[in-house]
Formats: sequence, C-alpha cells, structure tokens
Amino acid sequence: MSVWFVTGASRGLGLEIVKAALSEGHSVVATARDPQSIEKALPGYSESLLALPLDVTSENAALAAVQAAVARFGTIDVLVNNAGRGLVGAVEETSDAEARSVFDINVFGLLTVLRAVTPVLRAARSGRILNISSTGGVVAWAGWGVYSATKFALEGITEALRLELEPLGVQVTSVQPGPLRTDFLASSSLGHVSRVIDDYATTGGASREWAASSHGQQEGDPEKAAQAILTIAAADEMPARLPLGTSTLGDIRTKLTAVGDELEKWQELSRSTDVASY
Ligand code: NDP
Repeated sequence: MSVWFVTGASRGLGLEIVKAALSEGHSVVATARDPQSIEKALPGYSESLLALPLDVTSENAALAAVQAAVARFGTIDVLVNNAGRGLVGAVEETSDAEARSVFDINVFGLLTVLRAVTPVLRAARSGRILNISSTGGVVAWAGWGVYSATKFALEGITEALRLELEPLGVQVTSVQPGPLRTDFLASSSLGHVSRVIDDYATTGGASREWAASSHGQQEGDPEKAAQAILTIAAADEMPARLPLGTSTLGDIRTKLTAVGDELEKWQELSRSTDVASY
C-alpha cells in the first residue's frame, strides 16, 4: 500500500482520487484550502486519512503539509498535483491580474508543491508524480488561451521533470482530462474575465456561452477518471501522458495530424535556415 498526497482535494476530481485511493487501502494525505471539507466528505477514515490545509500558492503551507505527512505516514509515494482552476475569455480581454492569478495556482502553485514533495521521493529513490493537465494542455481553443497557457506550461514542466527524475527512480506523468462533470465550469470555480470586447463575440464570447450552458452536461465521469488515475499509478511504467475521455482522444489526434501536415508542407522553408555547412 502507498501513501498518496493530493492537492485540491475539497471537491471534484481531487476528492474522487482521494476516495478511490482510500477504498483501495492506501493512506492519503488530502490537502485543501479548507481541510474540513474533506473530513466532512469522508467520515470514518481516521486512520488512513490526513486532511491538511494547503493553498498551493503558499510555499510555507506546502512545506508544512509535507512535514506533517511524513511525520504521520513516514513517507510519500504518490503525488497528485490536481489543484487548479479555469479562466474563460479571449486573450486580449484578459487583464494582467486575471492572467497572473490563474498562473499562480495552475503553474507556480504546482511548482511550489513539487519543490516541497520531490525531495521525499528523491530520497526514497522511488515514487510517482501525476500532474493533472487537460486536453487544453495540448489543444488551445478560442476563449481558453490563458488557461491553456497554464496547462501547456504544466506539460513542459512535466516532460522535463520526467527526464530529470527517471534516473532517480521517480516516474512522472501528465493526465489530460477532457470535460469532467465537476464544479470546474461552475461560478464557484471558473474565472470569467471582466472585460468583454464585441469583436470576440463569436470566438472568446462563444466559449463563455458554451461554459455557461455546459456545466452539469460534461461527458467525463470524475469517479471513472479517478479510477483511471489509480490504474496508471499502479502500472509498472506510467505513460508520459494519459488522455481521458473520447473527445480528448479525437481532439489530440486532430491536433497531431494538423501539426504533422504543417511540418511536411513547410519543411523546405524550415530546413532553409540551417547554416550552409551543417
Ligand atoms: P473543481 O473546480 O471541481 O475543483 C478544483 C479544485 O482545485 C478544488 O478542490 C479547489 O479548492 C482546488 N483549488 C483551486 N485553487 C486552489 C488553491 N489555490 N490551492 C489549493 N486548491 C485549490 O474542478 P476539477 O475537480 O474538475 O479540477 C481538478 C483539476 O482538473 C484542475 O487542475 C483542472 O484544471 C483539471 N481539469 C478539469 C477539467 C474539467 O472539465 N473538470 C478538464 C481538464 C482538466 P476549493 O474548493 O478551495 O476552491
């Protein structure tokens, strides 16, 4: 049995991952801005569950949570960087503060937690890190540019971290869910930019409308997504990426094909910039 450390465990996918890990007999350090929400959702797990306060934007809180986790369970085997939120709005509509606040959670918060937990995994020369990305970490749609930028950043961090930690016995993967039926699109989670520019009505504006009408209608089941996460965490070799959901598979295939087609079409121009003797 392993010791799991999960961020953003108050609700949604994070809470489902905690439930799934507990029901498989693992010990879980479930962290959230309000840890009481976890205790309320999961009564009766006093031995195997440690609910701790963690706003991922706080380095001190991350270090304290890791210290408390190790004091209680001796180690951490599996880190799930799940905390995150969305932001909908066209790129130009997004203010500096709005862009920074979502980067603070989805990117700098993830880095903060990684810096706190990775030393424990490195010392053990084993462990797993699962970073919750998104289809939006591979494909950027109108209205989701800044949110996608946070998940593209997560993808870059994850890809490099995988190479850095593999020789040290730690496996790293990125999980790429499509739309999941959580609070992600609800007003309690999703940020909306405050500036609306009419010229973007059919692009960024259409995504705003899609978000408003799609809450509760998403195709992805967070409980099944959590089970899939448990499955890859137990695999001998975790894949570099795990897309979740049928639409995600289609969206990523379409993107890969378009990128491949453009590579072929423009390759002569691409090659033309090498120095002559290369
Ligand atoms: P929810 O909005 O239901 O849950 C988001 C979770 O993140 C909550 O527990 C929330 O805590 C937590 N969180 C937000 N900010 C912070 C912070 N500063 N510190 C700690 N925790 C924080 O959405 P999901 O469960 O769907 O989202 C989970 C992950 O999945 C996110 O990374 C999201 O980007 C990703 N994802 C979701 C998709 C979807 O369609 N649902 C699709 C693709 C990716 P609190 O309760 O305190 O607000």
